[in-house]
Amino acid sequence: MSLVNLLDLLPSEMESLVESLGAPRYRGRQLAGWIFGKGVTDLGAMSDLPKDLRQALAERCAVDLPEVERITPSQDASRKLVLRLADGSRLQSVLMPDDDRLTLCVSTQVGCGFGCAFCLTGTMGLGRNLSPGEIVGQVLVARRLLEPGLRITHVVYMGMGEPLANYAATVKSLRILTDPHGFGFSPRRITVSTVGLVAGIEKLARENLRVNLAISLHATTDEIRDQLMPVNKAFDLEALLAACRRFPLPVRQRITFEYVLLDGVNDGPEDARRLVRLLRGMRAKINLIPFNDWEGSSFRRPALQKILAFQAILLEHGITATLRWSKGEDIGAACGQLKESVSVRRGRAAAELTAP
Ligand code: SAH
Ligand code: SF4
Repeated sequence: MSLVNLLDLLPSEMESLVESLGAPRYRGRQLAGWIFGKGVTDLGAMSDLPKDLRQALAERCAVDLPEVERITPSQDASRKLVLRLADGSRLQSVLMPDDDRLTLCVSTQVGCGFGCAFCLTGTMGLGRNLSPGEIVGQVLVARRLLEPGLRITHVVYMGMGEPLANYAATVKSLRILTDPHGFGFSPRRITVSTVGLVAGIEKLARENLRVNLAISLHATTDEIRDQLMPVNKAFDLEALLAACRRFPLPVRQRITFEYVLLDGVNDGPEDARRLVRLLRGMRAKINLIPFNDWEGSSFRRPALQKILAFQAILLEHGITATLRWSKGEDIGAACGQLKESVSVRRGRAAAELTAP
């Protein structure tokens, strides 16, 4: 019988679990406090839980943390963590300090099946979905690496994979992160980025999670978006923006639109003006990401002047537009640069792809 990974459970599910073992429900909250609050994963060390309960739990459960295989520090103080999962799959998380913030970028899938033309992760194809425990496990592992006094202030779902294509695990991990008896993050400090899966956005709208939503837009016409992002053939700009307009936003919250700037492809003044028109009347802000290069890519980053000119047009029209100079570019940890070797289980030929 395989053991239940406690990281897959909500605090309320831990309450039901201990109840089924004959203990009062509050013991489940204590268990959650040890794991998510204190980061203790050894059942034997949970000193205020009765011994027989710990014993009963140990027979059925474990805390499966991803193993840290490599930590690559960048010149800009960000760190890329290469993590190895129980089945040998690898994934990456990135820790990014910035003034008084410390953001962790987490992955939701091994690889990604959406094949956006500018994204290195997309060249891997989809390995598999991560479980909720494998998603929140990234936060636990990263937290252990921090110097005393530091804590993760923000979590962004912008690593490998498409969060809404692994919908159930993504939503459960968000609930564990925001549960007061779980990690206790404010939903305002969590952002989920999607390639634009309209059905997923509409479902998310009904979850009342109140986390921030980021949309990978990247083009202002269906013609260009079709070329850059195959998903546009299933959900075109009109459908995507309609879903965004309907998305329930808490007060003072806005949808972020990510826009990777690709030289000569989507970075002209007419693109900027179309972008203004598309987002008119929406509570939106734009995050411009100058393209991060990777070997074998056919795209280039526009010249600085062009990037600033694009931003200036948005600002002139009263749109908040920030420029995101990605962290960790020198170590292949920047947006769209994440790729890891995929090992295939049960002795089948391994598709070894090289890490950047
Ligand atoms: N799959 C989700 C989550 C990944 S987020 C999504 O696509 O939204 C990573 C962000 O970086 C996305 O906005 C993605 O489009 C962008 N990105 C991908 N490759 C990039 C590259 N080479 N340079 C800059 N940004 C890139
Ligand atoms: Fe997947 Fe997002 Fe990369 Fe597109 S940009 S291939 S959806 S990870």
